[in-house]
Amino acid sequence: MTNPQHHEIVVIGAGICGATIANELVERGKSVCIVDAAPAPATACSSHAYAIAHPHIGKGSPRLLRLTRIAFLMAETRWGQVWRRHGIFQPTKRGRAFDRLELMQHLSSLSLDQEMALPLDASEAEKICGIKQSGVWLPRGASLNLFETSNALLQIHERLTCRWNTRITRLEESKGVWHLYNETNEPILSANKVVIAAAMESKALMSSIGIRLPLKPVRGQLSIFSIKANDAWLEKLPRVGISGDGYCLPADLLEDGSCRWIVGSSFDEGEDDLAPRNESDEFNRAQAQGLVDYLEGDPRGLIQEGEFVGVRCVAGDRLPIIGALTQRPGIFLATALGSRGVLWSALAAKLIAAQLLSDDFALLARLGFATDLLAALAPARFFAGSLAAPAALGALASNSKPIFPSDPKAR
Ligand SMILES: Cc1cc2nc3c(=O)[nH]c(=O)nc-3n(C[C@H](O)[C@H](O)[C@H](O)COP(=O)(O)OP(=O)(O)OC[C@H]3O[C@@H](n4cnc5c(N)ncnc54)[C@H](O)[C@@H]3O)c2cc1C
Repeated sequence: MTNPQHHEIVVIGAGICGATIANELVERGKSVCIVDAAPAPATACSSHAYAIAHPHIGKGSPRLLRLTRIAFLMAETRWGQVWRRHGIFQPTKRGRAFDRLELMQHLSSLSLDQEMALPLDASEAEKICGIKQSGVWLPRGASLNLFETSNALLQIHERLTCRWNTRITRLEESKGVWHLYNETNEPILSANKVVIAAAMESKALMSSIGIRLPLKPVRGQLSIFSIKANDAWLEKLPRVGISGDGYCLPADLLEDGSCRWIVGSSFDEGEDDLAPRNESDEFNRAQAQGLVDYLEGDPRGLIQEGEFVGVRCVAGDRLPIIGALTQRPGIFLATALGSRGVLWSALAAKLIAAQLLSDDFALLARLGFATDLLAALAPARFFAGSLAAPAALGALASNSKPIFPSDPKAR
């Protein structure tokens, strides 16, 4: 047995989440080791090339809406130069009236100015987006290739060590140092601080240190459709992204007059099967009809040319799990990014780096990171509910002291 290699910081998982966090720490002058079971970065859910990003404007949980605005700004700062900024249109829900004034008030309550979100009636939307439906125009909305981005983030750097083909199966703490074991139960790495960004497999890793996480898989299939040059669909294809019941990218016109159009996604709760399914393409054809309001369109005009299938990792309350695990000092979690990998990985990089390096809290506060938002993301929210907020507060004040009493009976 060889001696385990010691690093101050180890990140487990080299998808977009782990790659962004590792890159942030390296940029801040830290030496980092990133370890992944696969032979290269972004081979799992982050092999996705067409992930959209925009601030959310629905009437859902106010905390989620505030968080997506902050995360969108972080993602834009990080990837604004490399992502494809095509704008995203969010149509008014079917059967709901368009009320410009009400919408403007709602958007302003979310601190979204007109440069970020603008209500449009159907004729304005037709002019600006090529879609004859009322809704909200998000001109800064964009899409990012998660595969290319993850690979770019992990380029060779003197402070970055990459360990591929290395699956971590369990963690164990001894005298303040974390030991990471491989499949043959050898301790192959040790670290003072470990960031777990292993999507669904974070659950097994956490359970090896006695922590239960409520994570579940949600399979999704995105369809790549080809539309022939003379097809009636061509008139209906959008020149911007659309996000509503499903989402699509702007259609790309090819040299021969045909179009390529990315539409998604199925949402198969509790499933983790990566094989492509015809029924998922059928589902996406129906979503495509709804997104561009072309219900009478012949679905056969959308010819299946390819697909992306991935398994999202989702927490019980649909928010990501990001933050220091105060019950296990030295462990940081960044998982359950669900369908918002672009936004949450940008946010996770800032938040985990601030907690792990115990700095930059002023920056986080300036970005609008109120303590209730930190509590909403903190792993501690799943344990002894009411203690979640103090735990997150504590993590802000200091990440070196455990906030929770270690004996569960004491809570
Ligand atoms: C159909 C579909 C559409 C989507 N659309 C969008 C979208 O439009 N916008 C958006 O923002 N997001 C979207 N997403 C979500 C996005 O793809 C994910 O949120 C994101 O890729 C998750 O990144 P991750 O790094 O957390 O996980 P992953 O990319 O799954 O990375 C986890 C990594 O951990 C490694 N690993 C796991 N276990 C171990 C272990 N024990 N030891 C070592 N390594 C391990 C794996 O090999 C893997 O590389 C979509 C997802 C799907 C499926």
